[in-house]
Amino acid sequence: MIISSMISSTLKLLAASLVLWAPVFTPADVGHISKDTTSLTVSNRALEIACEYTKWDCVGTPAPHVDYSYYVGIMGWLGAYSYTSDPDGVWLNPYFLGELVDPESVDTLAFAILIHETVHYLDYHLNGPFPSACATESLAWSVTLTWLDRSGNSNVASEFRNWRDWYGCNAPNEEDAASVIQ
Ligand SMILES: [Zn+2]
Repeated sequence: MIISSMISSTLKLLAASLVLWAPVFTPADVGHISKDTTSLTVSNRALEIACEYTKWDCVGTPAPHVDYSYYVGIMGWLGAYSYTSDPDGVWLNPYFLGELVDPESVDTLAFAILIHETVHYLDYHLNGPFPSACATESLAWSVTLTWLDRSGNSNVASEFRNWRDWYGCNAPNEEDAASVIQ
């Protein structure tokens, strides 16, 4: 179940969903929860969607492992990916614990965020280190919003359409904006 007010308050801090963390704390260090609760079927489906929408050749690339971290929750993020901390996995907010266990009844927002972080994971594995935060966020949000719209969840997508404002990716030269974020 998703509480819309929770979404709104959380999204204000979502700007750091993609973070090149300073090596002080990472989601792996603080309140790390093991991945047992996410179905491999669900993570593979997220991978399929990410590959289909980006049109990347994902052959031979497995789905990322999915972990939950209280650090992500404390920071107010819905999810996170950091190739410097854990290139082969993605993190989700513990708020979503249990929401991706049953492939037949996944939570829409949790799955959308899993797709989003999976795009970052693929972007790194297939294309190398991100040229800028805004570049990879543009890809990830494009896929996320497209999937939400096509799956009949435009109401959820509407909460995210101004992602560029949160990330500071509205500058004419997005490379400049990204350098500020990082
Ligand atoms: Zn992102």
